[in-house]
Amino acid sequence: MDVLKEPENEFKVGWCPICNQGWQVIVKDTDTEKLFIMCEECLSLWDHPLNIKMGKKALDKNNWIDEVIPAYREIERAGWVRYLVEEV
Ligand SMILES: [Zn+2]
Repeated sequence: MDVLKEPENEFKVGWCPICNQGWQVIVKDTDTEKLFIMCEECLSLWDHPLNIKMGKKALDKNNWIDEVIPAYREIERAGWVRYLVEEV
């Protein structure tokens, strides 16, 4: 049997400063293959981990993406591994 992707495999990078209720996780836009950070709860979107502590830096909701959870190697390629946080 194939191993299904569990939600726990999400790549967390921070706690959302906008809603203060959800993790910010790395997602990939299936159209452009570009990585983004999205809040699991309010679905706010950021384009880089350096900006995720700032609610003001969230992207406009018009920047809607068709997101999937990326593979770990894609996060490595983007150089974002250093931003991952351990869940406590
Ligand atoms: Zn949020």
